[in-house]
Amino acid sequence: MSANPVDDQISAAAEHTERIVSAIFASAAAPVIDPVGWVSSVTKDFLAAYLRCRRRCGHLQSPQPVFGTPQQMGVMRCRACFLSYFGEAEAFSTCDRCAATGDGLGGTAVTAGPILLVLMLCEACRTATLAEQE
Ligand SMILES: [Zn+2]
Ligand SMILES: [Zn+2]
Repeated sequence: MSANPVDDQISAAAEHTERIVSAIFASAAAPVIDPVGWVSSVTKDFLAAYLRCRRRCGHLQSPQPVFGTPQQMGVMRCRACFLSYFGEAEAFSTCDRCAATGDGLGGTAVTAGPILLVLMLCEACRTATLAEQE
């Protein structure tokens, strides 16, 4: 426990986020922490878009995991709203990095504190992205 209860809440939310990611993407690699390369730039773009225009669902009142996707830069959602969006969105049939469509797309995620950015990547981009993290 740290001296700051907000820190504790955010840490707990971040840990919770990672558990949710493993549940969503049973076969996916662990979330990328401290990303570099394309993952780093897409994460920064997402946060910058949010700071320009604070769009988020109405459930995000207290520290809790927050979900976003490059398909909607800067839009943050709670878990329930994100899973609902994720279940419907045709956008998730497109690679976030190269815009390829079709089979072989897989989900992965980047965590930035309690914010979880879900990335859909084709096999080639997943390989390239993972290689950048090493
Ligand atoms: Zn919500
Ligand atoms: Zn791709």
